[in-house]
Amino acid sequence: MQMFQNLHRTMKGADTLKIQCVPCDHLATWDHREAADRCGPDATPMDIRDRARCTECGVRGQVRVWI
Ligand SMILES: [Zn+2]
Repeated sequence: MQMFQNLHRTMKGADTLKIQCVPCDHLATWDHREAADRCGPDATPMDIRDRARCTECGVRGQVRVWI
């Protein structure tokens, strides 16, 4: 069985999560609490990618996520 990284694990030791919109390059930075509030501590990076919506251009599901 494959273990997917969830938000809680991914952000262990990291202060912020960076979300960049691919179409318009808008960059958002979420701290640990904000990321957990928005997506839940068990969200996978794929979940975040699917749920994230750009506040600039309104596009959904086309973001890059990294720490
Ligand atoms: Zn955008």
